[in-house]
Amino acid sequence: MLSYQHIYHAGNLADVHKHALLCYMLSYLVQKDKPLCYIETHAGRALYDLNSEEALKTGEATAGIQYLLQAGKISSEEPAPYGNALKTLREKYGINTYPGSPLFAAHFLRKQDTAHMAELHPQEIKHLQNALKHVSRKMHIHHEDGFKMADAIIPPTPRRGILMIDPSYEIKSEYQKTARFIEKMHKKWPVGIIALWYPVLSEGLHVPMIKALKENDLCAIHHEVSFKTIKNHRLQGSGMFIINPPYRTEEHCRIIEKLFF
Ligand code: SAM
Repeated sequence: MLSYQHIYHAGNLADVHKHALLCYMLSYLVQKDKPLCYIETHAGRALYDLNSEEALKTGEATAGIQYLLQAGKISSEEPAPYGNALKTLREKYGINTYPGSPLFAAHFLRKQDTAHMAELHPQEIKHLQNALKHVSRKMHIHHEDGFKMADAIIPPTPRRGILMIDPSYEIKSEYQKTARFIEKMHKKWPVGIIALWYPVLSEGLHVPMIKALKENDLCAIHHEVSFKTIKNHRLQGSGMFIINPPYRTEEHCRIIEKLFF
């Protein structure tokens, strides 16, 4: 299994949606001195070369982040704090790179914070270790199944924090598995922020998963954007389901939506 490689999709519109919300949540949490824990089940390689053969083959970054930057929809000021984090990271790693969620997280985390990231793919884990080598904060990198890693750590110490779940959904059963996993993690860690990303595909494979999550009557935000600028593509939009969203996440969703009009 494990044929999915995010290099073909890095910097697409779905990444922008997911990372813009992630940056907002992290920036909110670091306003207080109290330590926090960042846990990510599906980390990917953390740094993507948008000039690579794979990225150019699909053209998803060209129609995604590159298009939004050229159109002036993303700048170092807007949308805050994503635009600024992106600019800082590209200045550091190269103007043709796109950071993955582990690097966005590392950008916000402080010395008192803890991070755990899992990646199962033997090639991607090497890239991840390499990309995080020079990050000054201690990041725990796990070469194992992300669901198992998170289950072993949750509830984390410190209790404040985010669980980011960004599966590759290579098999259909991953949708239901993810819904059950989230229910279990929420029971073990009722105060934790749990952020799930999912693709909005033409087949609507995400619908039963979201329905199952909503049946639990959680304190959650369900936010979807559609990709009107991309025609005839199976990926029609991007969704985030966030349990215990930080203050003003809803307002931030409204700001991010404007990128996709
Ligand atoms: N979260 C990353 C970001 O936003 O930059 C992108 C992650 S990509 C969508 C999904 C990653 O999960 C792939 O790199 C894949 O190899 C990895 N993966 C797939 N199944 C996994 C599992 N069970 N545990 C950990 N990683 C897994």
